[in-house]
Amino acid sequence: CGIVGYIGSRPAQDVVVEGLRRLEYRGYDSAGIALVDDGALATRKRAGKLANLEKLVAEEPLPAASLGIGHTRWATHGAPNDVNAHPHVGASRRVALVHNGIIENFADLRARLEADDHVLVSETDTETVAHLLELQVESGEDLTTAMQRVCAMLDGAFTLVAVDAHDPDRVVAARRNSPLVVGLGEGENFLGSDVAAFIEHTREALELGQDQVVTLTRDGVDVTGFDGRPAEATQFHVDWDLSA
Ligand code: GLU
Repeated sequence: CGIVGYIGSRPAQDVVVEGLRRLEYRGYDSAGIALVDDGALATRKRAGKLANLEKLVAEEPLPAASLGIGHTRWATHGAPNDVNAHPHVGASRRVALVHNGIIENFADLRARLEADDHVLVSETDTETVAHLLELQVESGEDLTTAMQRVCAMLDGAFTLVAVDAHDPDRVVAARRNSPLVVGLGEGENFLGSDVAAFIEHTREALELGQDQVVTLTRDGVDVTGFDGRPAEATQFHVDWDLSA
């Protein structure tokens, strides 16, 4: 239901958890976070309130990292429990993915993965997409190309945000029929399902168009269509106040 992404030089955990806190008003049943550190993913997720996730992170601290993604879930496929909470990862825990919305054709895609001996552990539509993204990056594609290719296979409404453990210099997101905004910083960039996720850090934002993929690095933002062609998102300034 709520999505946050960050790449920069600050502790990503703080930025992501604070962003999730700002999105709590939307309602949710579970929360989770994934960071990339030293070639590996670190993920923590928990059913229930964000406080449950924060308690888990206090018990099992995350590494310092400067990119990460976070999610608050409103379950559509699978009960609200720890396993179904996002982020979801691929078979070799290389790609982590958070998702808002519904992948209408996930059952077909999942059946094909399972026929190829993929073991999926959750009941969600989302986990299928994490496996598909990971197959692409393991075949040598960068995460941006992987996202373009996989989005072209999907039906439904989705905001997706992913990280690749082997690529500490990008966070990639996509949207169809579900909102996604980018917050433009100095040496850092942000993603949110709405601007509340990052408004305390920047008021310069980009609203992604339909069927677009966006790649965030620390110093730039690149937008394409699902076909890989360059595309334009709409820049705007957020001038309303957020009352905490
Ligand atoms: N369909 C996904 C799930 O059930 C995402 C739900 C959401 O938008 O939070 O896990």
